[in-house]
Amino acid sequence: MSESTSTENSKTPDNAPKESNVDQAELDNFNRLSNTWWDTEGEFGALHKINPFRIEFIRRFQPLENQSVVDIGCGGGILSESLASAGAMVTGIDLAQEVLSVAKLHGLDSGIKVDYQLIAAEEYAELHAEEHDIVTCMEMLEHVPDPQAIIKAAALCVKPGGWVFFSTLNRNYKSYLLAIFAAEQVLNLVPKGTHTHEKFITPAEMDAMARQAGLYLRDSAGIQFNPLLNQYGLNENVDVNYLLAYQKAV
Ligand code: SAH
Repeated sequence: MSESTSTENSKTPDNAPKESNVDQAELDNFNRLSNTWWDTEGEFGALHKINPFRIEFIRRFQPLENQSVVDIGCGGGILSESLASAGAMVTGIDLAQEVLSVAKLHGLDSGIKVDYQLIAAEEYAELHAEEHDIVTCMEMLEHVPDPQAIIKAAALCVKPGGWVFFSTLNRNYKSYLLAIFAAEQVLNLVPKGTHTHEKFITPAEMDAMARQAGLYLRDSAGIQFNPLLNQYGLNENVDVNYLLAYQKAV
């Protein structure tokens, strides 16, 4: 059978669109590393280090106090917890079960309240259309087969006039050298095998998908790593890791 008819042949056609936007090997990989999620010097150390800059970026556009936020692909809750600490009411969704367990346990320890749910973004969006002031989806789109479907779900979750923040990795020579070769093979900043260069997304591709979903670009920023100082920071260079701020039409 050709690929184009595979969905029609699915035994569970009702679930097929939601379930199919998952790369099980990706989820297995995150589940396998889940116990190291909150080790600030461990496998996910880079996420811990860039996290304050992500919060800073979001706050440029929207205060977080009393805002309703859904964090898509929340992982162990690094971003979700800091959004909640800043006063937001946060739901964190992900499909990696063990990672979510780590997130829940960490929340019990830290006392920071986040509502974690094991649910696909597409399904969550249908159930919670236009409910949230803010949607975040960081370092996740490069791990799914169909990023457009996630972007569409993010756009559906947010209220008219609300904000959607994405971060992902650009696809070019430099991002291969820095985000894969240097970060995974040389400097051990990111676990080996975390990223696949072909799944990286250029800002132009992101913007085409976002516009199709009814989102309008307000700003962008690059997340830079300085290996000599072992420091991260924000600037305007979106060559490698970058953040985008979108607003849904009113
Ligand atoms: N957003 C978090 C975690 C990034 S790691 C942060 O930036 O701190 C990428 C996360 O995406 C992992 O937790 C992984 O389980 C999740 N993920 C990958 N594919 C997914 C899918 N199809 N649906 C939901 N989450 C997914």
